[in-house]
Amino acid sequence: MDKPTALICGISGQDGSFLARFLLGKGYRVVGTSRDASQATFANLRRLEIFDALEFDSMVLTDFRSVLQVLDKVRPVEVYNLAGQSSVGLSFQQPVETLESVTLGTLNLLEAIRFAGREVRLYHAGSGECFGNTESPANEQTPFRPRSPYGVAKAAAFWEVANYREAYGLFACSGLLFNHESPLRSERFVTRKIIAAANRIAAGSDQPLLLGNLEIQRDWGWAPEYVEAMWLMLQQPQAEDYVIATGETRSLKEFVEAAFRQYGLNWRDWVDIDPELIRPADIARSCADPGKARNRLGWSAKLRMQEVVGRMAAAENGEEPGTRAGPCGRYS
Ligand code: NDP
Repeated sequence: MDKPTALICGISGQDGSFLARFLLGKGYRVVGTSRDASQATFANLRRLEIFDALEFDSMVLTDFRSVLQVLDKVRPVEVYNLAGQSSVGLSFQQPVETLESVTLGTLNLLEAIRFAGREVRLYHAGSGECFGNTESPANEQTPFRPRSPYGVAKAAAFWEVANYREAYGLFACSGLLFNHESPLRSERFVTRKIIAAANRIAAGSDQPLLLGNLEIQRDWGWAPEYVEAMWLMLQQPQAEDYVIATGETRSLKEFVEAAFRQYGLNWRDWVDIDPELIRPADIARSCADPGKARNRLGWSAKLRMQEVVGRMAAAENGEEPGTRAGPCGRYS
């Protein structure tokens, strides 16, 4: 029997890489797209030692023709849309690029799937950023109140997906994923920036770590676990949206403290606040209720912030927990 084909848009990123490994383990033929596949290094995929098992195509989500061509050529049964400008901080500097890549990109994909007229299941990477500040844990019924161009874009794309599901009967769903981290994060993201700085300082650097608001609170999980939830959403009898998170909220200060502790350092000796890094608007507290995912998908996060910090620090030291190939769907 032919292998089912999955198309991952944005395969070069953190989630795309872990998802590709997960789907290969499940027996899929996996095709991944990058804006320019001939120039991309696919460093994450090489690091996971799966590069040779994958196929690649160039696709620019904002260019309808390129989306249509790739869908027609690859003929996937499942499409995972992970591509787009993904940094909340950068979205304040590049609001148009963020809005276009996320909202127009998602719309093009929905239109192309509709146009193709075949049964294609679509996963869309929504975000906990859609909710904005959350006093009580956000679930699938909690209204959106985004506080960044990124959050606004993700909220609009969420409703595009919901609208195409309701209007045209597409099997399309959004995962409202809260922050999930790994050694594959770039240093643009604060968690990896913190771990990398603590590692450098422990190795003898005297450069302080500059951070913005340490009081913000987030739900941090382990990325390799989260890609399984994406896949599970597409295996359900009905397309629905799900909050994916650990359910535990911790402050950035706690993350910093835990990271420096890994290296036997006191963070207070090494961290300076840089007002330039404070965002024009930010989410003070982000907390999630992943109960629906637990009850309906049978998915729950196993690792919490403390373990995430430990694994990221171990990888920074040359060990690779969570980036080693393992039996399908389960990672050390
Ligand atoms: P990454 O930034 O690691 O990967 C996203 C990929 O999208 C990149 O590899 C890049 O591929 C492509 N991309 C980047 N910028 C643009 C752009 N301006 N236009 C089009 N494509 C672009 O993100 P993650 O893997 O961490 O996240 C995957 C998805 O999940 C993203 O949509 C993100 O917003 C969302 N998400 C992530 C969360 C997290 O905590 N990681 C939380 C909630 C949602 P290439 O350069 O090869 O074209």
